Amino acid sequence: MDAQPILIRNVRPVGFRPGAAPDAATDILVGADGRIAQVGASLIPPPAARQVDGAGGFVSPGWTDLHAHVWHGGTDISIRPQLAGLQRGVTTIVDAGSAGEATFHGFREYIIEPAQERILAFLNIGSIGLVACNRVSELIDIRSIDIDRTLAVVEANRDLIVGIKCRASHVILGSWGITPVKVAVKVAKILKLPMMIHVGEPPPTYDEILELLRPGDVITHCFNGKAGGSIIEDEDLWDLVVKCADRGIRLDVGHGGASFSFKVAEVAIERGLLPFSISTDLHDHSLNGPVWDMATTMSKLLSVGMPFEAVVTASTTAPMSAVGLATDDLLAVGKKAELTVFDLVDSDLKVRDSQGALGTLTRMFEPRHAVMGSTLVRASRHMPKEGEAKVCTCGAHG
Ligand SMILES: [Zn+2]
Repeated sequence: MDAQPILIRNVRPVGFRPGAAPDAATDILVGADGRIAQVGASLIPPPAARQVDGAGGFVSPGWTDLHAHVWHGGTDISIRPQLAGLQRGVTTIVDAGSAGEATFHGFREYIIEPAQERILAFLNIGSIGLVACNRVSELIDIRSIDIDRTLAVVEANRDLIVGIKCRASHVILGSWGITPVKVAVKVAKILKLPMMIHVGEPPPTYDEILELLRPGDVITHCFNGKAGGSIIEDEDLWDLVVKCADRGIRLDVGHGGASFSFKVAEVAIERGLLPFSISTDLHDHSLNGPVWDMATTMSKLLSVGMPFEAVVTASTTAPMSAVGLATDDLLAVGKKAELTVFDLVDSDLKVRDSQGALGTLTRMFEPRHAVMGSTLVRASRHMPKEGEAKVCTCGAHG
């Protein structure tokens, strides 16, 4: 059956020009071919068009989650992509190292190819990826890395693999120290791809990791509140992070179960250091709190002082650029439609960060629809509606 056109009415484009205020309300017609057909006021719906009433809300480039885990079935921690994707307003999911070279073929065949969302991947430098995450480390010793096979898998999957992931914290590396990070950087250099490095509890230290990175590389969990891993407890590290961000090293939120602190984010943003990208680190132990979804994570950054337009950019064109997706003129006639229709609503929702600290979201991103080509999906937050379960109390989040 041919897809029908989609007419999105009365929405204010935001995020198509980084940093710019939202444009006046308009209509957007997506053709049956999934491409932008017309943008303007009071468009006439073609016969059989599906219609979305934006009611004066917003439309942005499709939300892009730079750090999630969706190799469901191939790792013990991943969620199904549907739980992090179009139904949550996210059109592109970037998997952050769930698969290594030994498991990427299954990820491709069973998850990525059938998905409605675009799924891209940072390939774990550890061959086994996150098969038994945090129980059997993917970087247990030198046998964990196979440079030849890693290079071959990337070359065979250049359409999907956008970089190399390395989790560089004590629980993963044990006594191996920073050596795997150096090997990962070497492999990324050979492949001319960016790195995504997870920082957390040292060793290795955040400082010594930053010294190895190049412009275009991504530090995820940038606002973690771990002792020895926080950027607000050490002025030398703070200065280094600011210098690296200026050089083009990308600070990515990667909220997760253990890696986002309201306090660290608030101080950083107050001092003028904004994250390059906002991402969830959604997995099976962060989905039902403290992360919930992309919209809640975006709202958390808004709540600690990040401007609305900057939050939108950090959740759309910035992460898209980090993985090599085009970001120019995304509403131009002829471009493939990848859009998120959302509202910004008043709220008094109380939510926790990864340390268990409470914050209040006074304004909430509410995804309404996601458009991926000719696919139109109704979207909502994963979090229970207000009044049902305001705060996760399961106590399981370290
Ligand atoms: Zn992760």
